[in-house]
Amino acid sequence: MNAEIIAVGSELLTPQRIDTNSLFLTGELNNLGVEVTTKCVVGDDYERLADTVRRAIARSEIVLLSGGLGPTEDDVTREAVALALDRKLVFHPEISDQLEHRFRQTNRKMAEVNKRQAFIIAGAEILPNDRGTAPGQWIDESNVSIMLLPGPPHELKAMFTRQCLPRLERLVPKQVIRTLVMRVAGMAESDLDQAISPVYKKYSNPVTTILAADGDIQIHLRARCTSEAEARALLAEVAGPIELVLGDRIYSRNGEPLEVTVGELLKKRNATLAVAESCTGGLLAQRITTVPGSSNYFLGGFVTYTNRMKIDWLGVREETLLQHGAVSSETAEAMAVGVRRRAGSTFALSITGEAGPEPAENVPVGTVYVALANDTGCQVVHRQFLGDRARIRSFAAQMALDLLRKKCTQLAV
Ligand code: ATP
Repeated sequence: MNAEIIAVGSELLTPQRIDTNSLFLTGELNNLGVEVTTKCVVGDDYERLADTVRRAIARSEIVLLSGGLGPTEDDVTREAVALALDRKLVFHPEISDQLEHRFRQTNRKMAEVNKRQAFIIAGAEILPNDRGTAPGQWIDESNVSIMLLPGPPHELKAMFTRQCLPRLERLVPKQVIRTLVMRVAGMAESDLDQAISPVYKKYSNPVTTILAADGDIQIHLRARCTSEAEARALLAEVAGPIELVLGDRIYSRNGEPLEVTVGELLKKRNATLAVAESCTGGLLAQRITTVPGSSNYFLGGFVTYTNRMKIDWLGVREETLLQHGAVSSETAEAMAVGVRRRAGSTFALSITGEAGPEPAENVPVGTVYVALANDTGCQVVHRQFLGDRARIRSFAAQMALDLLRKKCTQLAV
C-alpha cells in the first residue's frame, strides 16, 4: 500500500518553519509496511490544495493531510478536501458545544469563528482532539482512506497514534519494512557505486540508496516483505555480496557513526586515546565525546592553533616548525608523539592542515596531515581534500578516526 502526505500551511513555505509532521507520519507508516511515495507542502490556498488532494487520491491508497484545521479564514483544509471529493460540509452542533465547553473551562468565551471547526465533511468520521480545538476527520472514498489531522505536532502525534493507527492496522495487509545501513569511510561515492552496483541493481526489493557526506558513505538497503524473517533473509542476501566487495572498508553494519566503532574497538582493547588538533579546532574531540561512555577510553586533548602552543603544550620543537612548517608531516608526528607523552595514552591522534579559505605559508588549501602514535612508533598520512573550510575540517576528523580504526583492526592504510 502506498501513502501520500500533504502538509498544509503557508508558514511551512518560509525559511523559518520545517514540516516535521510528515517525518513522524512517514516513520509510523513505514512501521506498518506502508511506503510513502509522495509528500508535499501546500500553502493556505483553497484551489491549489483541492487540486493537490484530487491528484493524491487518484494515485495513492492512503492520503494524510496535516494542518489547516484551525478556525481562521486561512485554514482551508476542510473546504478544500470537501471540494476535491465533491462532498458537502455539515455543521455538527455537538462539536460546537464541546468547543464552547472547552473555552468555558478556561474562563474564556468562544469566538464566533471557532464554529468553523464544527464543520465536518459529509460521511467523515470525527477524530476527537483532546489536545486542541481542531477535530480530525477520517474519510473513506472508494479505495482511498483520507485523514485530516491538526497541524500542531503534539496534537497530530496523539491523534494519529490513538485513533488512526489502530484503524490502519486493520486496513493494511501485514507487511514489514526493514532497513539495513552499512557505513564506509575513505572512499569516493563513484568508486563505491561502481563496486557495488552490479550487486544491488539485480534487486528492486530491497531498494538501495547511497548517501554520501564528507568522507563517509551510507548504504541503505530497504526491504519490504510480509514477515520479519523474510525481510532479514532478503537483506542478508544482498548485504552479503556487498560486504564481500567492500570488505573492511565497511566500518559499521548498524548505521552507527565512526566514533562509535572506534570507541568499541578501543574498549575491547582496553586502550586509551588522546588527541592534539590544529585546523579542526576540537572537532575530533567533539565527535569522540558525543559517544556516551567515551570517558572509558578518551583521556582528553589539546587544541593547539598557534606555533607557540604547539611548542609549549605538546613539546613540538621550534626547529621542526621553522624547517617544515606547522602543516607538515614532521609537525603532525611531533604533535601526536607529544600529546601521547603528556597524556600517557595508548594511542594519540593529531591533525594539522590548511582549511582555507586562503592558503597560508604556501600550503595549498585542503592539505591535511594526520598522525597516529602508539608504543611502536608514529604513522603519518597526508591527504589533499577539496571543498570549503567546513568540509575540509570534517574530512580531516573522519580521516583521523578511520586511521585509528584501521590501526586497531590491523588494516593497511
Ligand atoms: P490550529 O487549531 O492550531 O490552528 P491547525 O490544524 O490549523 O491547528 P496550523 O494552524 O496549520 O494547524 O498549524 C499550527 C501550528 O502547528 C503552527 O505553529 C505550525 O507551524 C505547526 N505546524 C503545522 N504544520 C506543521 C508541520 N507539517 N510540521 C511541523 N509543524 C507544523
